[in-house]
Amino acid sequence: MLDKKVVVITTGGTIAMRYDESTDGLVPAISGEELMDAVHGLKDICTVEVIEFSNIPSPHVTPKLMKELGDKVDEIALDKSVSGIVITHGTDTIEESAYFLDLYIKTEKPVVFTASMRSASEQGSDGARNIFSAVKVALSNSAISKGVMVVLNDFIHSAEDVIKTHTANVDTFQSPNWGAIGYVDFDKVIFKRNIVNRLKIDTDKIEESIYLIKSFTGMSSDIFDFLISKRVAGVVVEGFGRGNLPPLIVDGIKRMIDANIIVVLVSRVIEGRVLDVYSYVGAVKPMKEIGVILGGELTSQKARLKLMLLMGRYRTKKEIEKYFD
Ligand code: ASP
Repeated sequence: MLDKKVVVITTGGTIAMRYDESTDGLVPAISGEELMDAVHGLKDICTVEVIEFSNIPSPHVTPKLMKELGDKVDEIALDKSVSGIVITHGTDTIEESAYFLDLYIKTEKPVVFTASMRSASEQGSDGARNIFSAVKVALSNSAISKGVMVVLNDFIHSAEDVIKTHTANVDTFQSPNWGAIGYVDFDKVIFKRNIVNRLKIDTDKIEESIYLIKSFTGMSSDIFDFLISKRVAGVVVEGFGRGNLPPLIVDGIKRMIDANIIVVLVSRVIEGRVLDVYSYVGAVKPMKEIGVILGGELTSQKARLKLMLLMGRYRTKKEIEKYFD
């Protein structure tokens, strides 16, 4: 496979961090080249080119940066000698960057995000192993047209489904609704399912003024009135269960819709979709009737990114809602 080339784009995260005595904590410290040098055997399986895009913790990543990263990936993928692309990233927001790119980029070549839960200074650091597995996936012909993937702990997840479920464990990444799409074994990359109905949003702009609000018991409309005064473009609201909301926020949501703010409703429950099965005050049926868009199975953070991209291209509820659920 030495004739194949994988480009590794490094962005930062724990995978590129070391313990720093002066601050008594982990800080960005490892260059792209150093990261690759630590991956034993990597140079025996393909040619690797490293591009340092940034070296930041992933809570510092913004949607604007995700867009720049997506443009970079599409530019690199045009090079015929490149078989696939691996992106190293912090685990805190990897699911967001991966999903953003999944919706945004044009290439069908394998694009694989990876990361580590343990820094290079820790016992049993998982960084090198994860890079090795991610490169194997990027080299696999079966990974073409699978959408953007996230590979950690030898599991292959689709960007659409994956979430971080544990603050520290190396097995933190899970796809609660549908499970991993495959896994990496010693000699093989094994896929077990395909993602159907993949969506691409063809836009060169994003709408940045999209907020995300989690509902809670006894909640009032204050936060929504604040958002109206800020003239935001859209709000994703995380409801309870099937998407139901506390009664005191119903008027606030109505006022947002009257102010032409796009409202997308998702659930704070991790599996299943929102649906209009209840009709009591605050339930999904009356909310849908006043113009709330149902966000399907998406987590709120992913629904927000999708709305940012959709509103970069479309402005009306009618155009936007057909891309949700
Ligand atoms: N805080 C780190 C980050 O997301 C966590 C990690 O990479 O595992 O940058």
